[in-house]
Amino acid sequence: MSSASRTRKSRSSSTWRNWAGNVAARPVREARPASVQELADTVRGAAEEGLRVKTVGTGHSFTSIAATDGVLIRPDLLTGIRRIDRRELTVTVESGTPLKRLNAALAREGLSLTNMGDIMEQTVAGATSTGTHGTGRDSASIAAQIRELELVTADGRVLTCSEKENPEVFAAARTGLGALGVVSAITFAVEPIFLLTAREEPMTFDRVTSEFDALHAENEHFEFYWFPHTGNCSTKRNNRSAGPAAPPGRISGWIEDEFLSNGLFQVVNSIGRAVPASVPAIAKVSSRALSARTYTDIPYKVFTSPRRVRFLEMEYALPREAAVAALRELKAMVDRSPLRVSFPVEVRTAPADDITLSTASGRDSAYIAVHMYRGTPYRSYFTAAERIMTAHGGRPHWGKLHTRDAGYLADVYPRFGEFTALRDRLDPERVFGNDYLRRVLGA
Ligand SMILES: Cc1cc2nc3c(=O)[nH]c(=O)nc-3n(C[C@H](O)[C@H](O)[C@H](O)COP(=O)(O)OP(=O)(O)OC[C@H]3O[C@@H](n4cnc5c(N)ncnc54)[C@H](O)[C@@H]3O)c2cc1C
Repeated sequence: MSSASRTRKSRSSSTWRNWAGNVAARPVREARPASVQELADTVRGAAEEGLRVKTVGTGHSFTSIAATDGVLIRPDLLTGIRRIDRRELTVTVESGTPLKRLNAALAREGLSLTNMGDIMEQTVAGATSTGTHGTGRDSASIAAQIRELELVTADGRVLTCSEKENPEVFAAARTGLGALGVVSAITFAVEPIFLLTAREEPMTFDRVTSEFDALHAENEHFEFYWFPHTGNCSTKRNNRSAGPAAPPGRISGWIEDEFLSNGLFQVVNSIGRAVPASVPAIAKVSSRALSARTYTDIPYKVFTSPRRVRFLEMEYALPREAAVAALRELKAMVDRSPLRVSFPVEVRTAPADDITLSTASGRDSAYIAVHMYRGTPYRSYFTAAERIMTAHGGRPHWGKLHTRDAGYLADVYPRFGEFTALRDRLDPERVFGNDYLRRVLGA
C-alpha cells in the first residue's frame, strides 16, 4: 500500500463532534475507505486488532449512537449512484451518499423517493440506521422504502439482504442502529417524480387536537407545530397534485423558511435564552404572525428545508390514538411549570411498518418532538416530557435524546429479542458496539 493511500484510509484522528455539539468522541484513528473492498479490509483489520468500529454519517444524531473510541469510518468516499433500474423503479446508492445528493440526482432522472424527513443533510445509511422519518398517512420512514441492503459484517464478509435473500437480516438491518454491520449500499424504491401541494395554515391548539384524526385521515402528509405558552399551532398538509408547479413566493412569511430556519428565529431564541421570562410573550407574538400559504413543488422541495438554528431534540413515537392525550398532557405540564420553551413542538405520523426496531414497527404511530435551543437548560423539560411519553408506551427515536435502556425498550418492542439474537449471530464480539448500544440493547 502506498503511503498516500495509507494516509487516506487510516490517520490518527482528532475529536469528533455531532451537529448539535453535545456529543464528542476521540477515536483511536479514522479511516476513509473508497470501495467496499477497502471497507471490508478496514473492518477486518480493526477486529483483528481488537478495536471497535463505527461508521458515521453527518453526525446529525443527538444521541451518542455514532460515537466510538475505536476506528471511526468516514463515509465521504463511499458516495454516488451505483445503478438506476427503471423497470423495477429502484435506485442503488453507496451508503455515504448524502440525501440531498440522492434527491437532486433522482430529480434529474425524473424520479423521487416517496416520503422523507425535514432535512436532507444526512447520509442515506445514517438516516435509515436510526429510523429517520417524515410524516405520512400511507407512506412510512426512509428505511421502509429500502428494497435491498448490502452490509459488511464483523468478519469482513459482504452480505446482501432483501425480502427474498437473508430476509431475517433485511427485517432488522434497514434500521440497524449501526449494530449489525457497516451498510455499504442501499437500494431504494423510487417513483416517477410528482408534485405536492403544501397548504400551511395557522390553527388553534384546541382545533388541531379535536380534529387530529380527520386531518390525518384526509391528507397524505399532515403535520403541525404547537408553540408552547400559546394556544397557537401551525399546520402543514401535503397532498399530491396534478400541477402546475407553483413554488413558494420569496416574501411569503412562514415557519419553515421565514421562521424555523433563519436568522429571525435565531434572534428570538437568543433573546429567550438571555431573558427566559420574555419567552411566553415572544411566543405569542411570533406564533400569531404566521400566515397561511399554498404552494406546489417537487417532493424534496416541499418536505425538506434548511435548519440553521442549532438545538437539542427528543422525539417519541406513540400509538397514534394516544397522541392527542399526550399532547394535552404536555401542554398542561408546560402551562403549570416554570419552564420557558422557545422552540415549537412538532407532531407527525407514520403508518405501521415491518422493520424490527423501527419506531413504527407493527403499529400506526404519531411522533411528538420537543426541542430546546442549544445552550438552554433542557433536562427538566425533556425529563417531564419523557415521563408523559413513556406512560403512553412511547418509543424514543434512536438518534434523539432519551434516557431509556434495554429493559424498557424490550417491553415496547415486541420483536426486540429478534434483533438482539441476530446481533449475537452477526457481531458476537461487539465489533460495532459502543456505550449507547450497550445501554439500549443490553450488552
Ligand atoms: C437539524 C436536524 C433535523 C432532523 N430532522 C429529522 C427528521 O425530520 N426526522 C427524523 O426522523 N430525524 C431527524 N433528525 C435526526 C437524524 O435524521 C438522525 O439522527 C440520523 O440518523 C442522522 O443521520 P447522519 O447521517 O447524520 O448519521 P449519524 O448521526 O452520523 O449516525 C447515525 C447512526 O447511523 C450509523 N451509520 C451511519 N452510517 C452507517 C453505515 N454506513 N453503516 C452502518 N451504520 C451507519 C452510525 O453508526 C450511527 O449509529 C434530524 C436531526 C437534525 C440535527
